Amino acid sequence: MELNLNRYLSEEETIQHLDGNPLNNDLSNLTILNRSEHSKTDAIRVNDVILTCQWCNKNFLVKGSKLRQRLRSDRNSNSFCSKQCSGKYGQSVQIGNPRLNKVKIERTYYIERDNSNIINEEQNIGETLTGNTEA
Ligand SMILES: [Zn+2]
Repeated sequence: MELNLNRYLSEEETIQHLDGNPLNNDLSNLTILNRSEHSKTDAIRVNDVILTCQWCNKNFLVKGSKLRQRLRSDRNSNSFCSKQCSGKYGQSVQIGNPRLNKVKIERTYYIERDNSNIINEEQNIGETLTGNTEA
């Protein structure tokens, strides 16, 4: 079985106990899974970002969940703090003023997961790598 790896697990990989018993670290009971397969409760979230309004120059916070919708189709977008600013910009363009450059908004992600899971995973991985199986 490929579990006898002389390498560290990559970030995407995690140990799964086939019989569901986290104390059974017998090699026949272990398999490597990608984290995405393993933890169905894990969710990839987008971090909140602070943008500067292109109309009034005010800084404003955009929730990660909103950012995801906002940028689904197009990563570059104009950023306005409010409907008012967006509207004023729209009017300005209509009367012939130049369009503003769209800005690229970098999205960063974090994984929201069940904490009780991650503690077990880390302990189990440590035991496996040192070959130190507890009886
Ligand atoms: Zn504004």
